[in-house]
Amino acid sequence: MAIVKLDDHLIDQIAAGEVVERPASVVKELVENAVDAGASRIEIATAGGGKTLLRVTDDGCGIPEDELALAVRRHCTSKLSGGLEKIATLGFRGEALPSVGSVARLSLRSRAEGNGEAFEILVDHGRCEGPRPTALSRGTVVEVRDLFQKVPARLKFLKSERAESSAITDIVRRLALAEPEIRFEISGPDRTATVFPAARDMGERIGQVVGEDFATNSVAIDAEREDIRLTGLAGLPTFSRGNSLQQFLFVNGRPVRDKMLVSALRGGYADVMAKDRHPVAVLFLTLDPALVDVNVHPAKADVRFRDPGLVRGLIVGALRQAFAQSGLRSSSEGAAGILARMRARADTVTPAPRRFDGFAPGGYFADGFAAPRQSPYDPGTSAFRPLQPAGTATIERPQDFSAAPPTPPAGTAMAGTAALSDADAAREAFVGPDVSSQLETYPLGAARAQLHGNYIVAETERGLVIVDQHAAHERLVYEALKEAIHGRALPSQMLLIPEIVDLSADDAERLCEHASDLARLGLGIERFGPAAVAVRETPAILGQIDIARLLRDLSDELAEFGTRDSVTSRIDHVAATVACHGSVRSGRILKLDEMNALLRGMERTPSASQCNHGRPTFIELGLDDIEKLFGRR
Ligand code: ADP
Ligand code: MG
Repeated sequence: MAIVKLDDHLIDQIAAGEVVERPASVVKELVENAVDAGASRIEIATAGGGKTLLRVTDDGCGIPEDELALAVRRHCTSKLSGGLEKIATLGFRGEALPSVGSVARLSLRSRAEGNGEAFEILVDHGRCEGPRPTALSRGTVVEVRDLFQKVPARLKFLKSERAESSAITDIVRRLALAEPEIRFEISGPDRTATVFPAARDMGERIGQVVGEDFATNSVAIDAEREDIRLTGLAGLPTFSRGNSLQQFLFVNGRPVRDKMLVSALRGGYADVMAKDRHPVAVLFLTLDPALVDVNVHPAKADVRFRDPGLVRGLIVGALRQAFAQSGLRSSSEGAAGILARMRARADTVTPAPRRFDGFAPGGYFADGFAAPRQSPYDPGTSAFRPLQPAGTATIERPQDFSAAPPTPPAGTAMAGTAALSDADAAREAFVGPDVSSQLETYPLGAARAQLHGNYIVAETERGLVIVDQHAAHERLVYEALKEAIHGRALPSQMLLIPEIVDLSADDAERLCEHASDLARLGLGIERFGPAAVAVRETPAILGQIDIARLLRDLSDELAEFGTRDSVTSRIDHVAATVACHGSVRSGRILKLDEMNALLRGMERTPSASQCNHGRPTFIELGLDDIEKLFGRR
């Protein structure tokens, strides 16, 4: 067969295959055009999940009559004057309108700024008509009908009306987050209408799009490495979701779905979240456009960084540090839910309470989010300021929880279930007159009782906390183990008689390969024949443990992560496995000293608000909430 040059219509259809995959990608292109045109209001209307109708209306600069025909021609753009190195607009390829016009019926109506008349051009599956005069007061209206109706190969792959409709909502939310000052409205017979009014700043827009509860359950991120800046909000690990739809990532203001960035986000939470949970986050990466290539894929959702390792390190490091600094904050969701249930039983009708008055959305953003007009992700302005909530403990290095427990801040009147010695009873029966003055210095307060063998109830300055002792202790042990890996080795306990553990030859091999890492944790092992390991020492911090089970779990952990992860994260997994084995099991009765020691340990430990699986280690009820429950407020 002879080589021929493809005709333009065919070329447009081929390009359309890449640019417009589904209705949501058309919406993305059209809304990006409206943003590039400087619009302050953008309205999106859809019908049939965008398959029958898509309409995007803006009040931007418009297109003059003599450029309308060019706008729908391939490779015609008004945006590349700075060259590919300096792309300041969302669009630049000049492909969207001609691509859409080749697989649908497209109408483009526009009135250029300062022009008395508006014009319309039609493109019906590649056939162009116009421009001719039309009525429009300002801006541009782009209408797309019957998308893919004549392209069966594409039509086949479209999902249900509902799925396409929600994909459109998703892309509009992403674009709305990138442009807080623009008012967005999305409506149509296939959905409930949503409006994001023009926001004062990024904080307000995040509240509108992601929800006010995210604002109260997140930490501010603001970090920089070699002129690459990361800002935004990262959800508390306990505020996780079952899917990744609530992750909003932006590179120089462009919403992206880049694999590397998503995996870096995951990495930042690896320590504090179960593998099947997903963080909620809104993160803006700002860097010199020359250091990132957005021209990797026609849909521009992927990007390529010149130094991906640097970007990854920035994200992972910033998140870990933020969680360590956020110290003793736990998701308010748990407490709010409990309150709701309690209230339901009490059968009262008071409105839902806000738990942390210090973190109320208004107060939270009031000081931090004075975002500039044109660029919420401008590195020159601090749109995000790290938050140091009232009552957060100063973070010191984690300490060995097994060390001598510090004296409790205040005496206690009631010791719950613990059977106390006379001396203990004598000491604890004393109630100091100035309990409250001391509680100020202890965010987790004074232990008062242990309930059901696992829940420590403590009185705090502003209310009470309930601690899950197993989860909390697991976290402390884990942090101590991690410290040990990166610093001084953990003390070990010699076994009088080495314990021989039979394993598969593979397991034995794998464990012995990591013998020196394990030794740092205080676990001394040696090969003992082809399919067994001799254990001579165990980590002192763990006390009595089932050694055989620990070794098998460790081996599984190493097998799973052995090849994929870096040495450090592999070791972190090992530490998590060991920690789980050594934790205070629920059911163990603790004395008040022990409970207080655990509370003090939590105050000293980074990321103590959630266990290694991302569940909260404690919940807090404010006195005002308790008073509300009793109708006192
Ligand atoms: P690109 O956005 O990559 O330039 P498009 O095919 O999306 O390519 O648009 C082609 C051109 O049409 C743009 O460069 C712009 O000049 C013009 N245009 C498209 N949509 C609008 C709009 N809503 N308002 C003003 N101009 C527009
Ligand atoms: Mg465009």
